[in-house]
Amino acid sequence: MLPADRLQDKLITLEGKGYAAGKAIAGAYRFPRFVLYIDHVQPDPFAPPSLLRVQVDVAETQFPRDLWDTTTRRVALEDFIVRRFREVVRRQGRRGGGSGRGGVLMVDAGGQEILPRTACRLREEYVELRLSLGLPAEGRKIQAKQAQAILFEDLPAAVEGSLLWANVDGRAARRHVEVQEDHTALLDGLRAKGLVAFIADGSILPRESGGSDLPLGTPRAVPFRSPPELTVTLPTPHRGAVTGMGIPEGITLIVGGGFHGKSTLLAALTRGVYPHVPDDGREHVAARPDTVKIRSEDGRRIARVDISPFITNLPFGQETQAFSTENASGSTSQAANIMEALEVGARVLLIDEDTSATNFMIRDEAMQRLVPKALEPITPFLDQVRHLRDAHGVSTILVMGGSGDYFPVADTVILMENYLPRLVTEEARRIAAERRDGRVSEGRAFERARARVPLPHGFNPYRDRRIRVDAKGLRTIVFGRETIDLSAVEQVVDPSQTRAIGDAIFYALEKSYFDGERTLSQVLDAVTADMEQHGLEVLSTYEGHPGDYALPRRNEIAAAINRLRTLAVRQAES
Ligand code: ADP
Ligand code: MG
Repeated sequence: MLPADRLQDKLITLEGKGYAAGKAIAGAYRFPRFVLYIDHVQPDPFAPPSLLRVQVDVAETQFPRDLWDTTTRRVALEDFIVRRFREVVRRQGRRGGGSGRGGVLMVDAGGQEILPRTACRLREEYVELRLSLGLPAEGRKIQAKQAQAILFEDLPAAVEGSLLWANVDGRAARRHVEVQEDHTALLDGLRAKGLVAFIADGSILPRESGGSDLPLGTPRAVPFRSPPELTVTLPTPHRGAVTGMGIPEGITLIVGGGFHGKSTLLAALTRGVYPHVPDDGREHVAARPDTVKIRSEDGRRIARVDISPFITNLPFGQETQAFSTENASGSTSQAANIMEALEVGARVLLIDEDTSATNFMIRDEAMQRLVPKALEPITPFLDQVRHLRDAHGVSTILVMGGSGDYFPVADTVILMENYLPRLVTEEARRIAAERRDGRVSEGRAFERARARVPLPHGFNPYRDRRIRVDAKGLRTIVFGRETIDLSAVEQVVDPSQTRAIGDAIFYALEKSYFDGERTLSQVLDAVTADMEQHGLEVLSTYEGHPGDYALPRRNEIAAAINRLRTLAVRQAES
C-alpha cells in the first residue's frame, strides 16, 4: 500500500497524457481516513468507468452496532450508506467532464426498493464502498487536475459525509433499518395468519407517473383504507400493531370500474415482495416471497413446458405436455408463464386483465355454444383456478373488471371504488347464483407438471470467441450471441438485478450446475445456496471490485433461463 501522496505524484505526471497512461494509478493508497483501491482503470474515456473501492475502519465509522447486528439490519444500513453517498456526490456536482463519462463519481444505489447489493459491505473490521469513476478527459487526454480534485476533495468529503456516523442523519438511518425490519415482520405475520398479502391503512399506492416510481403527491393520492371485513392487525417491531387489509389464501377477485385503481393495487402487491424505502408509501405493503406476477407474452420462446392443464388438442397434433415453440401466442405464453413459475416454487399468482390474453382467461356460455370444446384447445384459467387452489395450494389474485364469469369461483371479491376497496363477495355470489348461466366448467384435475432438466449444450456465453455476458438496462440480458428479453418479467425491478441474473446463469454454467441431471429448480437451489454462503460477490469473476449487483429472486433467474432462445431441456422422469 502506498501513501496517498504517491497518487498525487502519479497524477501530476499524467496531466495532458494519453488516456492509456492512466493505468499507472492502479493500486492501493492510504488516505487519512480510508484506504482507496483503484482496481481497474478504463482504457479510454468512452469505456466503462474505472473501478474503485474505499475501505474505512469500522471503529472509525462509529456506526452503532445495533443497526447492523442482524442480516436484515445490515442490508438496510448498507443500503442507507450507499444512498447517502450518492446524495452527497450529487450535491457536489460534476467536475470537469469533457469527453465520455468523465468526471462522474458513481455508486450503485437503488430505486424505491431496498435490496441486498454489492455496492457496500459492512464487515467486522471495515466498511467497503464499491464505486466507479469516469476519469475526466479532454479529447483523449487525461485531465489530471480534475482527477486530483475528485480523488482528493470530492471523494474524501463524500466518504466522510456517508461513512462517519457523526455526519449522517442518525434518525433517518434508524428509520431505514426499521422499515426493512417491519417489512420482514409483516412477511412473518402473513404466514402466521394464512394471508398472502397485506396493505397497511394509509399506504400510498399510486405512483407519480408511468415513468416514475416515486409516490403520487398527497393532495391527489387517496391513502389506502381497508374494508372492515378484511381488516387485520399485524405486529411489527417498530410501528407496533399495523392495521390494514389482509388478503387471505384462495382466489381473490379485484373488480371495479375502469380507472378506479385496480391495476395500481395489483402493482403494489407485485412489488410488495420487496421492502421499500421510508416515505415510499408502500413500506407496509407485503406480499409473500413466493408471489409471481403472470402475464401474456406473445412471441416468447417455450422449451418443453407442460401446458396441458390449459392447452390440449392443438392443430396438427402438437404436443402440449412438452410444448415447444419459437413464437408463443398470447394464451400459450401465459400458460407457460404459469407452469414455469409453479415449477420453481410460486404459490401465489398475480394476474391483471390488462396484460392477459382474453381467451386464456374466459370462455363464456355463448362461445361455448358456438365453438364446441372439441374445437377449442384452451381450457380457460377460470376453469383451472380452483384446481390450482385445491390440489396445488396455489392462491390467485386477479384483476378482472370486464367479466363476471369469475364470481362463482372467487373466495373473496374486492370492489375498487374511487381508489378505495370494498368487500362485495356476498353480492357477487348472489348475482352469480341468480344468473341463469348455462356455462359449463371445462376444467379437470391435473398433476403437478414434470420438472425440467436444463442441458449444458443450450448455454453458450461466447461471442466472437470471447465471453460476453452483460445486462443492457433493466430488461435485457446479452448472453453470448443471444439476447434475453425480460420485458414481461415485471418483478425484476433494478438493473443491478438484471446484471446479477446474467452472471448467475454464467456462474451456474461455470460451476457445472447445468449437468444434464439437476432440474432447473435444483440448479437454482445450488446458486442460491452459494450466494447465501459467500454473498452476491460470488457471481463475480473479478478480484477487488466485484461489479454492481443487486439480489434477484429465484423466480426471475428462472424466468431469464426460460427465455434464453437456445435453452435445451429434457423433462425429468416423474
Ligand atoms: P384501473 O386498473 O382500475 O383501470 P388504475 O389502477 O390503472 O385503474 O388507476 C387509474 C389511475 O388512477 C392511474 O393514473 C393511477 O395512478 C390513479 N390512481 C390509482 N390509485 C390511486 C389512488 N389511491 N389515489 C389517487 N390516484 C390513484
Ligand atoms: Mg387496469
